[in-house]
Amino acid sequence: MARGEIMPEDIQRIMGKDAQRNNILAGKMVSEVVKTTLGPRGMDKMLVTPNGDIIVTNDGVTILSEMQIEHPAAKMMVEIAKTQESEVGDGTTTSVMIAGKLLENAEKLLDQKIHPTIVAKGYRMAAEKAQEILKEISMQITPENEEVLRQIGMTAMTGKGAEDSKEKFSEILVEAVKAVSHNNKIDLKDIKIEKIIGDDIKDTELVSGIVLDKEKLSKDMPSLVGDAKILLIDFPLELKSPEIDTKISISSHIELQNFLGEEERTIKAMIEKIIETECNVLFCQKGIDDFAKYLLAKNGIYACRRVGKSDMEKLSKATGAKIISNLNEINSYDLGEANEVLEVKHSGEQMTYIRGCKNPKAVTILIHGGTTHVVDEIERALMDGLGDIASALETRLVVPGGGAIEIELARRIRQFAQTLKGRERISVFEFANALEFIPATLAENGGLDPIDILTEMKRRHDAGDKNAGLNLFTNRVENVLTAKIIEPYKIKSQAISSATDVAVMILRIDDVILAKSNPKGRMNDVGTLPNYMNGLE
Ligand code: ADP
Ligand code: MG
Repeated sequence: MARGEIMPEDIQRIMGKDAQRNNILAGKMVSEVVKTTLGPRGMDKMLVTPNGDIIVTNDGVTILSEMQIEHPAAKMMVEIAKTQESEVGDGTTTSVMIAGKLLENAEKLLDQKIHPTIVAKGYRMAAEKAQEILKEISMQITPENEEVLRQIGMTAMTGKGAEDSKEKFSEILVEAVKAVSHNNKIDLKDIKIEKIIGDDIKDTELVSGIVLDKEKLSKDMPSLVGDAKILLIDFPLELKSPEIDTKISISSHIELQNFLGEEERTIKAMIEKIIETECNVLFCQKGIDDFAKYLLAKNGIYACRRVGKSDMEKLSKATGAKIISNLNEINSYDLGEANEVLEVKHSGEQMTYIRGCKNPKAVTILIHGGTTHVVDEIERALMDGLGDIASALETRLVVPGGGAIEIELARRIRQFAQTLKGRERISVFEFANALEFIPATLAENGGLDPIDILTEMKRRHDAGDKNAGLNLFTNRVENVLTAKIIEPYKIKSQAISSATDVAVMILRIDDVILAKSNPKGRMNDVGTLPNYMNGLE
């Protein structure tokens, strides 16, 4: 391998075809890893982290993030999954698989001596066309149509840890998303997810308010406060920070009395300010000292201290309370409200529920389940469902699932390719083929013959049935809309655009230069990928 004289000896460099092939191989491998998890019959993977933690998951982005992939091109593939996760919250496996297939098909074209820039150009043209078609054939929904939203949630959760209770879960998800949606904008951070280990999955609930992983500060405080008037403060109810252990020299008993007396009087004044507001619940972001605690309890106020900042913000959104930062600004107008605040015991752990908020702009989904692994995987499934419902509500566009949309896109992209003259034409065809990897894999993972299924689907689409997809509940090709297999438009548009971006980017690379100081990113690490896969499958 030629090495430029301007470069130091120990630089690793791969050029031209070798670089391309190596990158394509890495991309393909990443997509191979997640492929078996696609769809409702996809399998789970067990990941063991370096410190021995075990994660059992079906979630593409989780698998790839935990794998600690080091190959630079493979890392770029992992980035698509992350983009997909942050933009839509679901469809991570799909996006990575399409990118991998685009690279695999590109290799065939390179073998036919088609220049990588031509391949890339064809892919770009096809992707643009795909977006156009996608817009055209996606269906409009109205936010009032909760039935469709629930179906979208269920499609997202089919085959995941949440499967058995997906009807109930999807109701919870739709209600949660609707509660926090504001002028068509949805910030999923306003939906708090808390997990409880020990109960049954079926006990999972939506709380129209906030659940804090906190117990009341003193056992002398009430365990239940009805018609709660809630005060939120982010300053401490203590005089000196306990971390700073100031030494005060006190020489006599009287001096000690005076000193304590002074301190108590100040605390007492603070608590009196609080009592004046007629609040009966207090959440404090900082510390509350023993004397303050005693006074609060004596006055029947339910209090928690050291509540996290993000929980404080959620409490504010849920109850309408303003977070007060200064003792002098405390007043009764800024109190929030809830039907009740109570302490609940779940398998030995105390939690505080703030529920029955009138028009909460933040809510909590409380996941129950037998083990950490179970609740974690349910959380990931619920997050997929939340992402899908939110993006369907935001764009108000949905598409048929079960591979129907991919088959229709492929069919129409091929028609488009027929109209082209240049060498890009064949690359546009390969783009269409790559999309069919999704329905083919859904069939394969379902134990069906992918060729038979694809043939049947294509026949139906050619006959004008654009909603013909694979229904893995019945194992038949049928109208997937009738079968209620529906996905948000945004999953597909985002998956296609980021898959194309990364495939094109990888294709255009013909020189990989790695500084020695970067021992983690060695090119031949791609050779270790199959080991990862052995470990995973
Ligand atoms: P991703 O990470 O890409 O979301 P999933 O494992 O969630 O991967 O699988 C999503 C795919 O499964 C989509 O193509 C969706 O249409 C399909 N799918 C979901 N439910 C069904 C079903 N009942 N029958 C057939 N395909 C389904
Ligand atoms: Mg999914």
